[in-house]
Amino acid sequence: MNRFVILMMIISLFACSEAKKVSPAIDPLDMDTSVSPGADFDTYANGGWKKRNPMPDDKSRYGTFDQLADLGEEQLKVLFDEIAKGTYPEGSIEQKIADFYNSGMDTAAIEAAGIEPLKPFFEQVDGLTSTNGLQKLVADWHQMHINPMFGIYATSDEKNSEMVVAYLSQGGLGMPDRDYYMKDDERTKEIQEQYRLYLEKLFTLIGETSESAKTLASTVYNLEAKMAAVSMTRLEQRDPHKTYNKMNLEGLTKRAPGYDWKAYFEEIGVGDPGEFVVQQPEFFVGLAKLVSTEPLDSWKAYMKARVSSRLAAYLTQDFVDANFDFYGRTLSGNVAQRPRWKRVQGATNDALSEAIGEMYVKKYFPPEAKQRMITLVNNLKVALGERIKNLDWMGDTTKQKALEKLNAITVKVGYPDKWRDYSALQVSKKSYVENAVNSGKFDFQHMIGKVNKPVDKTEWLMPPQMVNAYYNPNLNEIVFPAAILQPPFFYLNADDAVNYGAIGVVIGHEMTHGFDDQGRQYDKNGNLTDWWTSRDAERFNERTAVLVHQYDQFTVLDTVKADGKLTLGENIADLGGLNIAYQALSHVLKGDEKAIDGFTPQQRFFLAYAHLWAQNIRDKEILRRTKEDVHSLGRFRVLGPLRNLPAFYAAFDVKEGDFMYLPENERAVIW
Ligand SMILES: [Zn+2]
Repeated sequence: MNRFVILMMIISLFACSEAKKVSPAIDPLDMDTSVSPGADFDTYANGGWKKRNPMPDDKSRYGTFDQLADLGEEQLKVLFDEIAKGTYPEGSIEQKIADFYNSGMDTAAIEAAGIEPLKPFFEQVDGLTSTNGLQKLVADWHQMHINPMFGIYATSDEKNSEMVVAYLSQGGLGMPDRDYYMKDDERTKEIQEQYRLYLEKLFTLIGETSESAKTLASTVYNLEAKMAAVSMTRLEQRDPHKTYNKMNLEGLTKRAPGYDWKAYFEEIGVGDPGEFVVQQPEFFVGLAKLVSTEPLDSWKAYMKARVSSRLAAYLTQDFVDANFDFYGRTLSGNVAQRPRWKRVQGATNDALSEAIGEMYVKKYFPPEAKQRMITLVNNLKVALGERIKNLDWMGDTTKQKALEKLNAITVKVGYPDKWRDYSALQVSKKSYVENAVNSGKFDFQHMIGKVNKPVDKTEWLMPPQMVNAYYNPNLNEIVFPAAILQPPFFYLNADDAVNYGAIGVVIGHEMTHGFDDQGRQYDKNGNLTDWWTSRDAERFNERTAVLVHQYDQFTVLDTVKADGKLTLGENIADLGGLNIAYQALSHVLKGDEKAIDGFTPQQRFFLAYAHLWAQNIRDKEILRRTKEDVHSLGRFRVLGPLRNLPAFYAAFDVKEGDFMYLPENERAVIW
């Protein structure tokens, strides 16, 4: 707990020492100056931080980023503690927050209910006599955001970004990726074994004998493995053209017979969906076959496993523990669960995110931060514009289009202009799991109600209290929730070098997403259309191949290498973000090279950047993220891009022969 207190003290101390203009971002104690910056900039900049911030038992990764997320949790706790104590009029936001939270903290009631909350679901499953009934049940559960077999969501049409359409997407697996079922290396085999045990445990908890639990677990595992076999890989899905397959009911029925798609859309309340997108057609062909060929009893076991696993976190401690054992311990290497209040607060926060966000912003978000951000974003836009004009590898026609796209980027900072209405969400103090299911229903209705309507451009995809930022290619917008506008990303009173190195690079990173391997395929209006000359596209691909090769060489653990292709978009964005922010900083410095605490502005820029990615991480989490995460690991977000930057070489006197040094012809220059 001390860590939070210290962090909060720094913030409040810092706000009081405005005149000094010294940023705590560059703290010599965070560094390890026994290592030279040219040998290993991550250790040089972050070695001290890593030693001083050992991994907490309930985390699989712990970095400055996570530290800020922890602070956010503490900030929310102040709000929650206040609200949870009171009584409120039925239907008010406070009543919903308090009841959701209190129902989750009421472990006595949860234990007393046992598996009662699952019984209505099991009765539905036990009553099934046909695959038509099975399909109807799938549609019913989808409306609660319990997602057996596949998923449906509603978002902008990739090729007509003004309109929302329905997307059908592969899914239905209990492990996080198809590869976990398909690979047979030692680590994967261990995970498969643990997953079988998890399924077995679930079946035991719902009352099966140990023998039948084993059989049922095996049945479910084999069925999921068959679904995995027809699923698209993560890498294939990075190609937006491959996942854009427009169809109508007739088309899908012809392509994937054996599933009543018309009944599905009717059941979920859409009626005739008109044209919709099937992201992975081969998956749906395969799934439809499995539905008609696999025994109904196998599907029944599968449905029970899926609903039990989906709701495990809201059930008795046995379920919670089983769920944590697999998803926390086995997959990520966590030693202990997060404290209950954090988990329940997190679930409440998910269910009522914008209502809580509204309160969070009032209490914690200084309006000055918004103004500072808007100025920063504008300066970064100017810098990227200059860089595009000066690119030696891109022709004028494509440059013109790129500049138009840059100028069309919209920016959202802090919080949405209008807040979501939660009046239709039912919450009571009675049952935690019922509240979770009601929240699923509410979210589903909200989402599905958008199908075939114009896009609401004011909507946010992240709540203000989330420490993160995003680029949305369909709206060509960059979005920075309030919570990221705090140290170590954003210092209201620090020198420019620090802010450009931290939040400046984050802004540049998000802008560059509009021009990464995926984002570049969308035009200024957010439509998936090719605006590149073929020559320029070819040159872009040559340049990004250099980056893929660089990251493929990084060893993440033992003999396991990073995946340069999977992380390409993020790596392009990191590199672009650094270039753009550095150029923007040069404009505001106007030759003022005054050192602060012994570091030049250029050095402070790179140190502030590196500090964002200071982190400790468990081995299992390294392996999990290398398989699933499109972001590089923190250490390589530092080492990877900086090795391509001459400005970094100059700032720290990096020389040939240093690890951080790459010969000029091996460096990537993209944006
Ligand atoms: Zn990104």
